[in-house]
Amino acid sequence: MHHVDLAGLTIDTRHYIGGERVASAETFESVSPIDGTVLAHIARGGAAEVDAAVAAARAAFPGWRDLGPRGRGEILHRLADLVEANVEGLSQLETLDNGSLLRSHRRGVMPRVAMNIRFFADWAMNELHHPVWQTRGHDNVVSWDPSGVAAIITPWNAPLMLATWRIGPALAAGDTVVLKPAEWTPLSASYFADLCTEAGMPPGVFNVVQGFGAEAGAALVAHPGIARIAFTGSVPTAKSIARAAAENLTPVSFELGGKSPLIITDDADLDIAVDIAIEQYDNAGQVCLSGTRLLVHESIANEFSARFAERAAAIVQGDPRDEATQIGPQIHQVHLDRVAGFVERATAEGARVVVGGGRNDALGGLYFSPTLLTGAKAGSEILTAEVFGPVLTMQTFSSDDEAVEVANATEYGLAAVVVCGNRERAQRITKNLVAGTIWVNCFFVRDLAAPFGGSKKSGIGREGGVWSFDFYADVKNTVYAPAGWKE
Ligand code: NAD
Repeated sequence: MHHVDLAGLTIDTRHYIGGERVASAETFESVSPIDGTVLAHIARGGAAEVDAAVAAARAAFPGWRDLGPRGRGEILHRLADLVEANVEGLSQLETLDNGSLLRSHRRGVMPRVAMNIRFFADWAMNELHHPVWQTRGHDNVVSWDPSGVAAIITPWNAPLMLATWRIGPALAAGDTVVLKPAEWTPLSASYFADLCTEAGMPPGVFNVVQGFGAEAGAALVAHPGIARIAFTGSVPTAKSIARAAAENLTPVSFELGGKSPLIITDDADLDIAVDIAIEQYDNAGQVCLSGTRLLVHESIANEFSARFAERAAAIVQGDPRDEATQIGPQIHQVHLDRVAGFVERATAEGARVVVGGGRNDALGGLYFSPTLLTGAKAGSEILTAEVFGPVLTMQTFSSDDEAVEVANATEYGLAAVVVCGNRERAQRITKNLVAGTIWVNCFFVRDLAAPFGGSKKSGIGREGGVWSFDFYADVKNTVYAPAGWKE
């Protein structure tokens, strides 16, 4: 009744609170975007389940805090080992639930899930040095004290990867966690909870409340018992969470949407440029960091777009479990309709379709063809709003200054990509771009030690390396006088 067998794993569909499984009176369906199969009926939590989970996390906090980085690290490494031992099952499960490529999960995403846990456990043990310096003979000693319960709310586009990117540092920092996964992709978090039990994590250190944003999510972020809110998702949701957080002055870390530019200068290596541009369709365009606005120097625009269109037309779209597939389905009918609506409005306003342009009728279901639009009006919706689907736009520029100006002309500032043949020129361009991450002649190279986050409406705060600990911990300075010591 409360279990379902999927991908060779047994998934418990209830919440995970205080190390126990807890049911709710109501459930919701988890549907596979691959073919519409109902995969499971998941417990639909609300304020009562959130209260119980926060209470369990608060009760577990002193013990987890007092284990220290080494004690916690042992458990976290066992957890990472278990993720690694379950890469195949987790990959298949995540593909069923969110439609991303199975081979990406196997080779990249799930190993990274393990690394999200291992890396921050190691950082807490080895890299978090407590700086000491002197002021008129007084010692300043800085420490990162665990802060309490971290509420973590995550989206559906890379469910377990994005959850563990927050859970890893939060637990390593000594906080306990209540996770509310996205309602379109609840399954991997549920299985991950079992791995926490198996790793010997004390009950209540990690908790999962399943359910909808307006119910479980809203109750969690408004809870006075939480110390931190780490949210990954959209700007409208972030605004509502910020309002709830204001009531308790709960610190927030927001990783939000993007509308990132991909600038291609006239001296760029076009092979690299086309490769990188095609990569922007990865995960069927459902990637916050995607450089969806191609800004191409006018002198190479024709050649670039011809070469790009040829490559885009050859992209293999289909079942994400097939090894040959490059692009799978959109996550949900609601989302597909939203993506299609953006393209319909843009073309009605005069944008021209270079490639794709609509649903993939040959495949049916939730498949949207990789699309490139040109000729969109400056300032129009398609050039400013996040589509979050396999839809790119192309604009041309005649000077680097113009490219930078157009690149910065959105309310977002998550990432930017520059393809350029000259390093000094690239430096001049990147200097004036407003973005949390910029890639030059590359894309998606991510180091967990590097700061990650968004400028402008793309986020608040940075995580990665010490920046994560700065957020999850209470950073404290203790000043010791040179006098007054009796021994
Ligand atoms: P979303 O904002 O709709 O939902 C995200 C999560 O918030 C879900 O778990 C949802 O249930 C919850 N939620 C919704 N309303 C809530 C409320 N009132 N209170 C508390 N929680 C609530 O976003 P989505 O559609 O799931 O994800 C797509 C968005 O996420 C895109 O904008 C994308 O760019 C962004 N994203 C950003 C990053 C990043 O690192 N910057 C990474 C991935 C996705």
